[in-house]
Amino acid sequence: MTKDWKTRTKLVHEGVRRSQYGEMAEAIFLTQGFAYPSAEAAEARFIKAGEDEFIYARYGNPTVRMFEDRIAALEGTEDAFAAASGMAAVNGALVSMLRAGDHVVSARALFGSCLYILEEVLGRYGVEVTFVDGTDLDQWRAAVRPGVTKAVFFETISNPTLEVIDIRAVADIAHAAGALVVADNVFATPVYSRAAELGADVVVYSTTKHIDGQGRALGGVICGRREFIRKTVETYMKHTGGAMSPFNAWVMLNGMVTLDLRCRAMSDSAARIAAALDGDRRLSRVIYPHLPGHPQHALAREQMEEGGTIVTFDIAAGKEAAFRFMNALKIVLISNNLGDAKSIATHPATTTHQRLPDDQKARLGITPGLIRLSVGLEDAGDLIADLRQALDRI
Ligand SMILES: *Cc1c(COP(=O)(O)O)cnc(C)c1O
Repeated sequence: MTKDWKTRTKLVHEGVRRSQYGEMAEAIFLTQGFAYPSAEAAEARFIKAGEDEFIYARYGNPTVRMFEDRIAALEGTEDAFAAASGMAAVNGALVSMLRAGDHVVSARALFGSCLYILEEVLGRYGVEVTFVDGTDLDQWRAAVRPGVTKAVFFETISNPTLEVIDIRAVADIAHAAGALVVADNVFATPVYSRAAELGADVVVYSTTKHIDGQGRALGGVICGRREFIRKTVETYMKHTGGAMSPFNAWVMLNGMVTLDLRCRAMSDSAARIAAALDGDRRLSRVIYPHLPGHPQHALAREQMEEGGTIVTFDIAAGKEAAFRFMNALKIVLISNNLGDAKSIATHPATTTHQRLPDDQKARLGITPGLIRLSVGLEDAGDLIADLRQALDRI
């Protein structure tokens, strides 16, 4: 790794492996296996594979390795393991290190599938999970058990209400108890938020979101120390089949080239949209981490260089009005992805968080009028005009 390169240089050049042809663009090694020059070479590779030696695509592949090296350089971790999806990455990071009798503390405000792993899967295998309000440091302090708590888990910016977790403070509490910090950093993006620098031991991304950035392919990645990635994570992932496909790794490598430019442009537009909507009397709240009215505004400014690409707002008149608003949008599409070049409106209460019982929805602030807007690469003025004309139709 070339530590003194700035982000944009890393995003274009890090991790490149060229074949004997000297190709400019990263090659897609669309192969599941690798031929050995001799039986002795095969034996040697199974004993210990060298830097440029691969065995089977479930274990590793040159295109996938290029992507892993590029994102590890960006995040500032020693290594990374690419997974088939964001959920394969979250599952792999947690299950690979936990065993029956271990204890985990997790923030309560989580992406639905993350909640499934922590609430249902881990418990089934004898791992106890305590849920806390992630923004309340006293609850983290009270929940960790020195020597017993093996991991803490949280989304650095929660979905969909954009709560900001104090990474450094939670990491200090976890480390004092001997626990590893696993942070899902999707909403904050690796561009303007450095979770590893702030104390996260393991940083997980769904690369389906900003890293692809054009809504094409599923992917995930686990970033961390080399020992943890290659011994704990890789061992689990290579035998359970959660590896990223070489084609998807190639899509992600290309996504990374423009990641910094896209995230900053989308975040600039999101900030403008949040400011334009803030104070509209038809909205009971506009949530955006860098808006002065955000409950953790100071922390968000300190921890994130930019406010992010998501704006969440609550249409005061409720579900029917929220649906009329969504149906009136002309540019913004109705879907449930985020981080895409195309702006997307989501109604969490009836889609991504439909499964949650009403009392949990209320506790997480997922009200009937809540809209999550993922801001894309369109002109910000056009987007503001689209949102305003749709609000006029509620
Ligand atoms: C989308 C998402 C995931 C899951 O990623 P997939 O690629 O869809 O499996 C996990 N965590 C967060 C915060 C997400 O937004």
